[in-house]
Amino acid sequence: MSDLLPTITTRWILDQRGPKNSVDPAIPNGYFVEEEVSSQGDLEAVATILLTNRECPLRCTMCDLWKNTTDNSVRPGAIPGQIDHALSSLAPTAVVKLYNSGNFFDRQAIPRADWEEIADRVRSFRQVIVETHPRMLDGVEEFQSLIAPAQLQVAMGLESIHPQVLPRLNKQMTLDDFSSACARLLGVGITVRCFILLRPPWLNEKEGCQWALKSLDFAFSAGVECCSLVPTRVGNGAMEALEAAGQFSPPSLRSMETVLSSGLRDGRGRVLMDLWDVERFFRCPDCDQRRVERVRQMNRHQRSLPPTKCEAC
Ligand code: SF4
Ligand SMILES: [Zn+2]
Repeated sequence: MSDLLPTITTRWILDQRGPKNSVDPAIPNGYFVEEEVSSQGDLEAVATILLTNRECPLRCTMCDLWKNTTDNSVRPGAIPGQIDHALSSLAPTAVVKLYNSGNFFDRQAIPRADWEEIADRVRSFRQVIVETHPRMLDGVEEFQSLIAPAQLQVAMGLESIHPQVLPRLNKQMTLDDFSSACARLLGVGITVRCFILLRPPWLNEKEGCQWALKSLDFAFSAGVECCSLVPTRVGNGAMEALEAAGQFSPPSLRSMETVLSSGLRDGRGRVLMDLWDVERFFRCPDCDQRRVERVRQMNRHQRSLPPTKCEAC
C-alpha cells in the first residue's frame, strides 16, 4: 500500500473540485432500461431513474455524484414529477431503481412529504431499489410499508474493507455500521445490494483485486444479496490529484475479469461488474472488446467463462 500523500480531509477533497453541471429539478438526470440478471438467474429489464436532488452531505474521496446535484433541497412534488417524467417514456418493467446520487432517506434530498406520492408511483413494481449510506436509514421500514406489495431493496456502498483505505475514503462509516445496517434491513425483510470498489486509491493492481474479493466475502457474510463491483475512476478532481501524486491508478480490464470470475465461483449471491463508461479503461486494441464481452457474459450468466487470450498484451 502506498504512503498517503496528500492528507485526505473534507476540505482537501472539496478544494479539488471543478464546477457542477447545471441540472433541472423538474427532470431526472437520466433514465433508461437495462438488462440485469435477477436473483433467480433470469435476465430481466430494470428501469433506472437518476433523480435530480440535493447533494449528499458526505464527501467521499472517490465520489463524483455531486456533479449532477442541486445545492438546495428540491421542492416537494419535484421527485414524483421526475418519476412520472421517466416512467412515461420507459418501457414497462418489473423492477425500478430510484437512484438519487446520495441517500434516499436523507430528508434534505428526498422530501418526506413526497413519500406517499412516490409510493403510489412504484407500488406496482415487483421490486424497488433505492440507494443510501448505511448510517442514513431513517424511516426505511415505513417506506417499505408504503410501497407494499412491492419489495424494497436497499443499495449501500461498502466500498472497501481495507482497514486503511476505508477511513481514507472519508465515507464516515465503519464496517460495524455496514453490518448493523444489513442486520436492520434483513430483520424486516428488506434485501440488500452493495457497491464495492475495484482498486481504490493507495492499492496496487494485485492488492486492489485481493481487497475487492475480501470485501465481497465480507458483504455476503453480512447478508448482502447482490454485489456490484465498481472499477475506480477519476472524474471528481480528488481522484485526478491522487493519480498525479502516484496514489491511484485505475484497474485493468484483466482485473475486472479476474475479480468477477473469482467472485462468481463461490455462488454466495449475485456478483456484477459495472461496465458503465468502460472504454476509459481500454489499453489494448487487440483484446479490450473481447474482455468486455467476457465480463458482459459473466454478468449475464453468473458463471465464470474461459479467460481471454491476447498475444499483444
Ligand atoms: S455517501 Fe455516496 S453519494 Fe455521498 S459522497 Fe459518499 S459515495 Fe458520494
Ligand atoms: Zn491485449
